[in-house]
Amino acid sequence: WDMFVLAFLERLFRPTFRKDDFVLGKKLGEGAFGVVYKVALANKSSAKQGDLVLKKATEYGAVEIWMNERVRRACPNSCADFVYGFLESSSKVKGGEYWLIWRFEGEATLSDLMLSKEFPYNVERMILGEDQDLPKGLERENRIIQTIMRQLLFALDGLHSTGIVHRDIKPQNVIFSEGSRTFKIIDLGAATDLRVGINYIPKEFLLDPRYTAPEQYIMSTQTPSAPSAPVATALSPVLWQMNLPDRFDIYSAGLIFMQMAFPALRTDSNLIQFNRQLKRCGYDLVEWRKTVEPRASPELRKGFELLDLDGGIGWELLTSMVRYKARQRTSAKAALAYPYFDREGLLRLSFMQ
Ligand code: ADP
Ligand code: MG
Repeated sequence: WDMFVLAFLERLFRPTFRKDDFVLGKKLGEGAFGVVYKVALANKSSAKQGDLVLKKATEYGAVEIWMNERVRRACPNSCADFVYGFLESSSKVKGGEYWLIWRFEGEATLSDLMLSKEFPYNVERMILGEDQDLPKGLERENRIIQTIMRQLLFALDGLHSTGIVHRDIKPQNVIFSEGSRTFKIIDLGAATDLRVGINYIPKEFLLDPRYTAPEQYIMSTQTPSAPSAPVATALSPVLWQMNLPDRFDIYSAGLIFMQMAFPALRTDSNLIQFNRQLKRCGYDLVEWRKTVEPRASPELRKGFELLDLDGGIGWELLTSMVRYKARQRTSAKAALAYPYFDREGLLRLSFMQ
């Protein structure tokens, strides 16, 4: 009840918007299920809100609004700041469009940043807000990557503790928030909330094959039936324990870790090729390493060297995320307790100078 009353009051006092309040700006993205624009508020007096982002979504927009509302109450730091969502029924689209509004977090996704030749130093500059002018080297790259992984796992832990599995974790859906100088997760369009059975029926066609874990369904197909609202709250923590659906996102996050350590894997074609190799090795990273390391390029070798620093604690974390069996993968919370994160990250590094 408390949750209900709070949510109601919060809604009552939050500003509401309609179609004419927005002036469309640059197009930021276009997928099969919606178009995303940078927008400004038409009314200059309310323009102190700053830039916003608008997603015009098809029928799945309803679920995405629900997910964003839940996230902004339960784990607000995990995802981009959600402002408002509504059904815009005056549009020409049959059945109307769902309009979703967020705060504009920043210009760059992790994908944009990773494609730069400067990565990971460009990220260091954004997180610290200044040039460090330290000698570049493997140790320093490792600390930057470690800091990014920590922020990503922290955001994932928030979602998972709320009962939400994102299912589309990839660098394109991780945005650098210029305000908080941290990475946040975006795009809850394929997310599923197992505790209340929202979007329980897997929309497998929404998933990105480049980053998906080998299991096709995140819940065992033997799980009797989709939980329906009231029962589900009591029932599904058990289902959660049985199926560990959060480990689906952990696999994807592990692939992002791989891409950060091995620059070659940042292109689509090489990532796809890597996925094939890994499949051939039975999704066993240790096995994969044995097959590629003997004839590895200097660049690939550098990636292994980075993960082997400090007694191989990076490699240990990576291999506990990218595993065939979901049950054998670490959770986000457990990953954050790995020795890899005991080392001082970026911020400490700058204080020590
Ligand atoms: P989709 O992938 O379904 O097209 P996303 O929600 O991933 O939609 O958004 C598309 C793109 O828009 C993102 O990759 C990002 O570049 C940009 N974007 C989305 N949300 C924000 C935000 N809150 N702040 C800044 N940019 C955003
Ligand atoms: Mg996206």
